[in-house]
Amino acid sequence: MARVLSGKWVRDEVLKECEPRVARLREIGRAPGLAVVLAGDDPASEIYVRNKVKACEQLGIYSEQHTPPATATTGEIIALVEELNSRDEIDGILVQMPLPAQVDSQRVLLAVDPDKDVDGFHPLNMGRLMTGRPGPRACTPAGVMELLRRYEIPLKGKRAVVVGRSDIVGKPQAMLLMHQHATVTICHSRTVDLPAVAREGDILVAAIGRPAFVTGDFIKEGATVIDVGINRITDRAVAEDLFGDNPKKMAAYERNGSVLVGDVHPRDVAKKAAAYTPVPGGVGPLTIAMLMVNTIDAAERRLTS
Ligand code: NDP
Repeated sequence: MARVLSGKWVRDEVLKECEPRVARLREIGRAPGLAVVLAGDDPASEIYVRNKVKACEQLGIYSEQHTPPATATTGEIIALVEELNSRDEIDGILVQMPLPAQVDSQRVLLAVDPDKDVDGFHPLNMGRLMTGRPGPRACTPAGVMELLRRYEIPLKGKRAVVVGRSDIVGKPQAMLLMHQHATVTICHSRTVDLPAVAREGDILVAAIGRPAFVTGDFIKEGATVIDVGINRITDRAVAEDLFGDNPKKMAAYERNGSVLVGDVHPRDVAKKAAAYTPVPGGVGPLTIAMLMVNTIDAAERRLTS
């Protein structure tokens, strides 16, 4: 039977280790501080931000929310970021994506002080990652590494295949795996014969954004499969096709009118992989935990150097 890799367990372990670090920072000066910028009124972003603020509260991290209107300009958001850069008690700045369409996201991300960039998206921090220098790592791929480490999944000399090449998941994920001595292949929408390439992976990471796209023919027998994707299924026929044999999932669909599925086919992965992350409850919980870690790291650097 395939082993289910629980992101909730890893999250709880990571957060437990954060507690004494926050306590120590409070003792020597003040609580770590995180500022979140949420522009516009994207409902999914509002939920993400609410969960991030809640995680801060639970750990005793100071947090504040800034909510520029959906009509905010690039200049207005940059001015806000610059004000946050200059405030001593703010260690981390998170600009929730997506920003409203008229805002130049790249310019905004560039305006964040790299030492307060707890998302790890600033080009300087991407460079630090690329060259193996210390610095904040993008939270989702960092969470995946934490999960692989705590479940003692061997990486050295293994073949890792990452499907997806985004700046926030695929690329940093590939770099992190390479730094742990895996031999890494990055795939994307133009990869020829994707299933055959994916099947080379002892570790297969799917970060695509397409429901149940990775089927059995992508998965090497005995592989470890990490499913980063989060897709909401509202179509009953699709839900039945994916979860017809899973009464709990179908009950959830009946209750909510939708059900979550990852980028990996849930039935196929359970049959072929040796270990895999479920959706939900796999990679999802780790992202916020790593944001807390990045915020504490930033506060420690700023308060103790
Ligand atoms: P992006 O849309 O930025 O990138 C998707 C990547 O998948 C692209 O590189 C794209 O290739 C590739 N891709 C798309 N279609 C195919 C295809 N048919 N075959 C091969 N490759 C394909 O997405 P993100 O990286 O931001 O997110 C990926 C998924 O992870 C989403 O489901 C998202 O919701 C989820 N996510 C989950 C998080 C969590 O906390 N668990 C955090 C962040 C994301 P190309 O570059 O060629 O277009």
